[in-house]
Formats: sequence, C-alpha cells, structure tokens
Amino acid sequence: MNEALEQFRSETRAWLAANCPVGARGPGEIHSGSTKVVFQPDTQQWLKVMAERGWTVPQWPKEYGGADLSLAETQILYEEMQAIDARPPLMNMGTRMLGPTLLEHGTEDQKRRHLTLIAKGGAAWCQGYSEPGAGSDLAALNTKAVLHGDHFQIDGQKIWTSGAQYADWMFCLVRTDPSVPKHQGISFVLLPMDQPGVTIKPIQLISGSSPFCETFLDGALAEKRDLVGTLNEGWGIGKRLLQHERSGQGGLGPSAGRSRPVGVTVDLDLTDLLRRYGSDPVQTASQRDEVIQWQMRSRAFSLTQRRMGEEARGGAAPGAATSMFKLYGASLAQDKQALTADLMGSQGMGWEAAGFSSEELGATRSWLASRAVTIYGGTNEVQANIIAKRVLGLPD
Ligand SMILES: Cc1cc2nc3c(=O)[nH]c(=O)nc-3n(C[C@H](O)[C@H](O)[C@H](O)COP(=O)(O)OP(=O)(O)OC[C@H]3O[C@@H](n4cnc5c(N)ncnc54)[C@H](O)[C@@H]3O)c2cc1C
Repeated sequence: MNEALEQFRSETRAWLAANCPVGARGPGEIHSGSTKVVFQPDTQQWLKVMAERGWTVPQWPKEYGGADLSLAETQILYEEMQAIDARPPLMNMGTRMLGPTLLEHGTEDQKRRHLTLIAKGGAAWCQGYSEPGAGSDLAALNTKAVLHGDHFQIDGQKIWTSGAQYADWMFCLVRTDPSVPKHQGISFVLLPMDQPGVTIKPIQLISGSSPFCETFLDGALAEKRDLVGTLNEGWGIGKRLLQHERSGQGGLGPSAGRSRPVGVTVDLDLTDLLRRYGSDPVQTASQRDEVIQWQMRSRAFSLTQRRMGEEARGGAAPGAATSMFKLYGASLAQDKQALTADLMGSQGMGWEAAGFSSEELGATRSWLASRAVTIYGGTNEVQANIIAKRVLGLPD
C-alpha cells in the first residue's frame, strides 16, 4: 500500500479513537437525520463530529457536505470504523438513495439545498413510489401532479412508505401526463412532508410496530424547482434511484464484502450456534452440512461483492447488474435467518415468554422480518426479470 494511504490510515485510526463516543460503538441506535426523533447524546455527538469532517458521506464532494475521499480512502475509513466496532454515524434514504441520484441528475440549486442538509443529518427522507395499484408494475402509478405557476399540486395515494411518519421530505414518482404510454409522462419530484396536503397513516403490524405507512396526498404541494430532471421524463431517474437502493441492499459500495448481509438484524455466528444448541448427533450432522453450505455461499458472495466494488472505480452504482446482487443477497440473508432459527430448535420460535433469552427472541423477530427482504426494493421475481432482459438480453 502506498505511503499516503498508510498515513491516512494511521491518522484516521487516531482520530476515530479520540472522537467516536463509547455509546456509538457496538450494536445500537443509528441516526436517521429525522427532526422528529430524539436520539441519544452519543448518537448525536457521533453524527456531529463525523458530519464536520464530511465523513457521513465521505465520497461526496466537499461543497455538498462530503469529504471528497477516494474509494481507497473510504474503504480504509470503513475498515477502521469496523475495527473499533463504530456504528455508521448516519443512515437513511437520503445518504444511500436520493443523494447519489441528485449528484447525477440534480440541479446545482437542488444539490446545494438538499445534499448539504442530508450530509449533516438535518432531514430524513421517505420513498413515495408504491401505490395500491402499482407495486411490481410501478409504471402503472396514478398519483397525479399538475403544475400551477411555481408549484405542482399533487393528488393520490402512496403505500408501504417506510418511515413516512418520521420523514421530513419525500421523493416521489408522479404522473404529469396521463395521455402518453405509461412509462412516459412520469416525473420525479421532492416534497416536504409537513404540510396540510399530506396525511400519514402508519400501518400496524401484528407485532404492534408500524415500520411503514399509507401516505395520502390531497392537494400536496411541491415546488417547481424541486422537479428532478425533465418534466415527464422521471421514469429513468426513478429507475436509477432503484439501482442505488439495490446496490446498497446487495452490499455493494466501498464497504462491499465487509458489511453484514442485507436484512440481517440479528447476526449470530452459525458455527457457534451449532456448538451451543446441537445435541442430537444425527440432526447436528445434517445441520453442519447446511451451515457449511451457507458459509461457502456467503464467502463466495462477499468476494464477488468486493471484486465488483473494486471494479467500480468511480464509486457509482453499476447498472442493471445491481439486481443480481439484490436477488442473491436477499436470498442469502433469508436463508441465514431461517438457519439461525432452525439451529435454535424450539428456542428459536419464541415471541414473548419467560424461558427465552433476548437473543432467542431477537432471532425469531429477525427471521420473520427477513421475509420482507425479497419483496422491498423490487421482488425476487422482478429482479430475475431485469437480469433476464437487461443483463442477459433475453427477449420479452
Ligand atoms: C418492508 C417493506 C418496505 C417497503 N418500503 C417501501 C417504501 O419505502 N416505499 C415504497 O414506495 N414502497 C415500499 N415497499 C413496497 C415494495 O416496493 C413493494 O411491496 C414491491 O415492489 C412489490 O409490490 P406489491 O407489494 O404491490 O406486490 P405485487 O406487485 O402485487 O406482486 C405480488 C407477487 O407477484 C409477483 N409478480 C408481480 N409481477 C410479476 C412479473 N411481471 N413477473 C413475475 N412475478 C411477478 C411478485 O414478485 C410478487 O410475488 C416496501 C415493501 C416492504 C415489504
């Protein structure tokens, strides 16, 4: 490794040791940028010091709140954070999805207003794509936007809007010309959530939590200057944002091959579980095979992620190939959660009761939550369709 990078590593290591609060290390809360959530002091402090250095979005240009780090420097930063078990200082749809899209397609004014706010953790974003009649067939969306002077007036309904109740802004696909074929006539707009035309209804799950919402838009307003790209040509931008989303879900980017698998919230060591829970010799032998199979697939996947990350020198998300990583990563994550629960036997099936450890209860919830990984960001079937058409060039 060259000298400049070695020096960067030792400076980064020293700075992190001195500035990463104890409460920002190990499992725990990650700042989402939401102005509607109260975060713990160490989480706030970690965000503040990292944002001051531009390290919440290290590869973004300095003028938009980043640090202009190269891919190699960013990898070093993440490795050094991992070495002290530091959590990311900020994680939301702004840093991972909208930000990279605005860097490519935003106006200078949009970049200055939105990127700098995202970088310092001053706003949380939500994604207004899905509608009751438009999921996999997203281009069937019906939410209408009409331009009146300096504003779009928006009417319609979005659904499954993750975190809408905590979001400050929404990036949204809307129909601006209903008279043309469905992929045309769609625009990509940004709108503030705190306004009379936006009503949010959290969807209660059986667990009692509400990770996502119905979002009703009745005369909601978006400023004309917050139209991203050209009027009626938002479909391409919407798809690009999905590639950034899937790139993150597929574990690509500077931390490629080093981060925990997508969708895995309780990340237990399978070999250790086998040792702790395996009592029946016959069953343990077959479970050992399954664990080894999973570990081999996981290792091969993480090496492929790293190779892809290193090939993407510019740091930009690759195109349709992100669907391969989303598809495989999602299945791998689901399999890990199922295997975890399986290794725990009946102890991996607890919801609430004495007799289950918090690790076991967490594993059950994580297993159930992992069912969603193959749905959000586009289902496995949709990813397979994209790979067939856009990567392999097969006919429709
Ligand atoms: C946890 C979670 C969070 C989400 N967060 C958001 C969010 O923040 N914002 C947002 O906009 N959306 C969000 N979604 C919605 C998500 O994008 C959609 O659920 C997804 O795109 C599938 O759409 P659908 O639910 O309407 O299912 P449908 O499109 O009705 O699909 C039903 C089934 O049919 C299959 N299918 C459909 N079309 C085809 C085809 N052409 N070929 C083969 N099979 C097909 C699908 O694979 C699926 O199995 C979230 C979903 C989940 C589960």
